[in-house]
Amino acid sequence: SPQLVWFRQDLRTADHPALIAAAEKGPTVGLYVLDDETPGKWKLGGASRWWLHHSLAALSEELEKLGSTLILRRGRSSRVVPAVAKELGASGIHATRHYEPWWREAECEHGDFAILHHGDVLHEPGAIRSGAGHPFKIYGPYYRALESHMPPPEPVPAPKLTRPSKLPNSDKLEEFDLLPTKPDWAQGFADWTPGSKGAARQLRRFVDHASDYGAHRDHPAEDATSRLSPHLHHGELSPRQLWHALGRKGGEKFRRELAWRDFSRNVALADRQVGDTAQRPLGLRTRHGKAADADFKAWTRGRTGYPLVDAGMRQLWFEGWMHNRARLVTASFLVKHLLIDWWRGAEWFWDTLVDADYANNSQNWQWIAGTGFDSQPFYRIIAPLTQSEKFDAADYIRRWVPELARLSDADIHDPWGRGVAPADYPEPLIDHREARERALEAFRKRTS
Ligand code: FAD
Repeated sequence: SPQLVWFRQDLRTADHPALIAAAEKGPTVGLYVLDDETPGKWKLGGASRWWLHHSLAALSEELEKLGSTLILRRGRSSRVVPAVAKELGASGIHATRHYEPWWREAECEHGDFAILHHGDVLHEPGAIRSGAGHPFKIYGPYYRALESHMPPPEPVPAPKLTRPSKLPNSDKLEEFDLLPTKPDWAQGFADWTPGSKGAARQLRRFVDHASDYGAHRDHPAEDATSRLSPHLHHGELSPRQLWHALGRKGGEKFRRELAWRDFSRNVALADRQVGDTAQRPLGLRTRHGKAADADFKAWTRGRTGYPLVDAGMRQLWFEGWMHNRARLVTASFLVKHLLIDWWRGAEWFWDTLVDADYANNSQNWQWIAGTGFDSQPFYRIIAPLTQSEKFDAADYIRRWVPELARLSDADIHDPWGRGVAPADYPEPLIDHREARERALEAFRKRTS
């Protein structure tokens, strides 16, 4: 009898255990529900919607080629999924397990009706526990435990599918209205190719130079990282496919980074509120009001007067992606130099990143803010000017902050300090030393 596969952040057909299980049982139909209710405040951001539009078009084509169809619907998943299953006369609903608290709740609402399969991680995080049976809170031991389960199973190809004779109606993709008109991101996002084919192409490109990863991954001017994060988030490529395609090429360093993605999911499982604003407040007196709002706006626009921070924020706006080193520096700048609550930054990232991922985003912001499970202490303050020099960001700055493009390698990291800032480049929002003192003072005076 017919089977339904409920797709969410697993928009692929290869190495997809839920799809394979469904295909073994009978004629199969895919379903995607655009659900802006279940995630609450974490409904899809603007850049993710752009990505999703193209990714759904690609998935629909893949399913048609394999002999099946993708049905599109809108509404609350816990209502729509069973309703479509009923229309189809399906005897089984299959889905990939996800770790966002709202998805876990929705999965529970489906009870035994939905069969959950693993497919989003290298190894099921719920099955990785300390000797005492608790979830790991520190990354090192988690990684060692994960490693003992590696290699992950070999990826499996897409199954052949058949279509049931009677299909439920589908909305049209255009009716989802996912493509934003304002801002019109079409130009900046043009280099991305959402969908499994785009992911495979990006993967091939990365495999060729993956041996440089360890030595160059921290240098934002170089194209040394995989740029696979949006494909991984939307599940167009499984972490197991990535792990096997790479073999030893990216080295231990790459496998350790990829494993952070699993670790974040482990954190989201252990702490349902990792993305929540009120979680484990540090008791710091953060800044609020007009001046703080103006600083926040300058940060979002890449007009802080700190070249590396501005380059990162402008790359984010233009490409929907930011280099990891720049994410660390920009996030730290917001939280420590500007003393603004981390979740305002996390929300901005959520709306503007094509790889916006609840577990990765929340966990990394909390790491920076010093409030997460395995965090950098608050009093470690990243110095943006020094980082810029240390990681050779000159060409990165030239690319994203064109008003500084003519400055020399020696001047470009700190144009105000060197007295060479052009008239159209903003003055620093705050002097580095002053910011450091202010942050440490706030930390000393914290109330809890
Ligand atoms: P590579 O270096 O090639 O790494 C391969 C993959 O490993 C990545 O695609 C990603 O899936 C995973 N990975 C690498 N680093 C991390 C990490 N620190 N934490 C978790 N997973 C990691 N990543 C997201 O996918 N979505 C987010 O919303 C997100 N928000 C972030 C916010 C902040 C403040 C910071 C500091 C980091 C954030 N990251 C996020 C993690 C990291 O910056 C990106 O995953 C990485 O830059 C993506 O580029 P890449 O694919 O070239 O990474």
